[in-house]
Amino acid sequence: MSDKEQGILFVLSGPSGAGKGTVCKALMRRLPEMCLSISATTRQPREGEQHGVNYFFKTRQQFESMMASDDLLEWAEVYGNYYGTPREFVEQKLAEGRDVLLEIDIQGAMQVKKSYPNGVFLFLIPPSAMELEARILGRGTETEDSFATRFGAARSELQMMKKYDYVVVNDVVEAACERIESIITAEHCSVARN
Ligand code: 5GP
Repeated sequence: MSDKEQGILFVLSGPSGAGKGTVCKALMRRLPEMCLSISATTRQPREGEQHGVNYFFKTRQQFESMMASDDLLEWAEVYGNYYGTPREFVEQKLAEGRDVLLEIDIQGAMQVKKSYPNGVFLFLIPPSAMELEARILGRGTETEDSFATRFGAARSELQMMKKYDYVVVNDVVEAACERIESIITAEHCSVARN
């Protein structure tokens, strides 16, 4: 199948606290045709999270067996837990001509870039460092230690911006979604891609 018939892989990534999860949920409401990849993780479910909806929750042993069988397109250890993208769903949807969205951390995005150089890599950033701090704290799920880890990591992760195709400022969620939708439209019209 030629590239033209394949769907486009969009990767939404960026530092912790940029609001990837919130923007991703809002985007999925606005783009019914987009296929969202559901990640596997060894992290414990947060209140209200459901298996198969937010994540596929796995034991470390189950996750390691997915790694060993090459079932993951990419994986990373983030704050002591494994996260990874199940390969089959992504490959199948792209082959059907459907666009796929991954919401993953920066290490994972850099791995995906190697296997999908034609993917579109979006780097979501908060409008300011102060806002980043407020968002990480506001989530209410962090202890003091995990806040320090996430905030420190987020600041150094901002340096990775240059490796991405687009930078999207997440000031207001709906505005960030509009920017991303414009990028999706532009990529579908791109002469280089077609
Ligand atoms: P959380 O625990 O807050 O749901 O996610 C923590 C981090 O893991 C976020 O930066 C999120 O984007 C990232 N993440 C979620 N799923 C995946 C995945 O499949 N692969 C990678 N590499 N990172 C992921």
